[in-house]
Amino acid sequence: MNDEDRRNDPSHPKSPAEKLERLFALDRERMYLSRAAAVLRWDEETYMPSLAVEERAEQLAVLEGLAHEKLASPEIGGLLEDLGQPVSGVPAFLPALPDTARDFLRVLERDYRKAVRLPPDFVRESARAEGLSQAAWIEARKKSDFSAFAPHLKKMIEYARKKAEYWGFGPAAGNAGTADPSAGLHPGSSVYDGLLDSFEPGMGEAEIDAVFRPLKERLQELLQKIAAAPKAETGFLRLDYDISSQKEFSRELLAGLGFDPRRGRLDESAHPFTTTLGFNDVRITTRYARNDPLSGIFSVIHELGHGFYELAVDPALKSGCLAEGVSMGIHESQSRLWENVIGRSRAFWEGWFPAFKSHFPGQLAGVELPGFYRAVNAAGPSLIRIEADEVSYSLHIILRFELERRLVSGALSVEDAPAAWNAAVGELFGLEVPDDASGILQDVHWSMGAFGYFPSYALGNLYALQFWKKCITDIPRVEELLIRREYADIHKWLGETIHVFGRRLDPAELLERATGEKLSALPFLEYLETKYAELYGF
Ligand code: ZN
Repeated sequence: MNDEDRRNDPSHPKSPAEKLERLFALDRERMYLSRAAAVLRWDEETYMPSLAVEERAEQLAVLEGLAHEKLASPEIGGLLEDLGQPVSGVPAFLPALPDTARDFLRVLERDYRKAVRLPPDFVRESARAEGLSQAAWIEARKKSDFSAFAPHLKKMIEYARKKAEYWGFGPAAGNAGTADPSAGLHPGSSVYDGLLDSFEPGMGEAEIDAVFRPLKERLQELLQKIAAAPKAETGFLRLDYDISSQKEFSRELLAGLGFDPRRGRLDESAHPFTTTLGFNDVRITTRYARNDPLSGIFSVIHELGHGFYELAVDPALKSGCLAEGVSMGIHESQSRLWENVIGRSRAFWEGWFPAFKSHFPGQLAGVELPGFYRAVNAAGPSLIRIEADEVSYSLHIILRFELERRLVSGALSVEDAPAAWNAAVGELFGLEVPDDASGILQDVHWSMGAFGYFPSYALGNLYALQFWKKCITDIPRVEELLIRREYADIHKWLGETIHVFGRRLDPAELLERATGEKLSALPFLEYLETKYAELYGF
């Protein structure tokens, strides 16, 4: 049906209010398709039999293709144009709209414009390649064989590059001054800027580099001071902790921290993650290790932080494009706030250590809270990002940021990437990487084509401390609450200050509204320097 036919169709919405209603309905339908694909992805990571992988990739390609077509449909485009938001100016009826409806139009238009630029064939092909790439990564990681994954990584980089170019980023977007900004081009941008934009709207490569450079320097200094101090005793954490007791304690944590079992569930996967399958359905996963009980526990707390965010978005935004976290960086601020700032605090373990010890009285015989607190925060150079401490974690991220921007620009070839990785680990941590499984193959992200994702973890650390600084000013005696395992005030503050907005406010706007500040690494650095000086006595 062309534009003319559609306007003459008696069932076609005529008034602005009807058009808005129609847009809400169309947006819901494409969100439902995306959620259905998310169910299949969740299943792929948790319960799917291994031989199902190829067909699953086909199934996902079809579903995600449909979701994409729905969003990029001429009907959505026509309605957005009719409602004139914001490209063709604000029509008379808009000022009367509730704020949420205006935010809806703004965000839907942004999503629409991104989607409409990706050809359906490209979306289908890249989804299929992604499924195969992930499966190849899982196998390659098991065998620590980078060469088995390399062809897939090359493909993922090509798709990522193409995607950013379709979105109007990179040298092809034209030179500043000649490009038409209303065409959605980003003159003077890099391809990597385009990839960052989908995880952290409004944040560019140069801006991140400017924050990461001094962050790297001060964290390296702190890590050196820690390395020179006497080590924390962690031997008791390498004993055998049976998995079933770990699971039991995880369930206690879920309930104690306030996760509603009627609105989500916890399962296991190779790489812990959180996915939202519906307004009342948030799935989190973890992985357990017999000789490392903290790995599973802190993954649970981390993913819970993501889950709390998704579950506290304003119910009025249910099922629509606004009903999600606004960016990966803000999302990570929530997970890392719970995992580290709260979950690795002394007060938190004053509340939970007795319960933990009751599950493992043998392993923890003779261990008291001060020793346990030191062990939980043991820091030092490490090979594995996901098990790194708070100090070295952001250094792991900076390493990935520096490598992936070069991979995407073509300055670094896939063949040379493992050696570049190993050299960077040597430079940052003074460590030798024994095999690719504990080096370049350790993370799932690149296998999914998620270039530009890694920086959000470090940004999350920075945002988290900016939020927390304000939170503990607004809620007096937070430590006492943590000791008593009372989290309602913290949930309320985070809910009202951050979660409720969903995607209504962009990251910079949300941060400024919550804290009165712009992005800064200082609260994070001050928090770490104070905490670790006390822990390590320097
Ligand atoms: Zn996370």
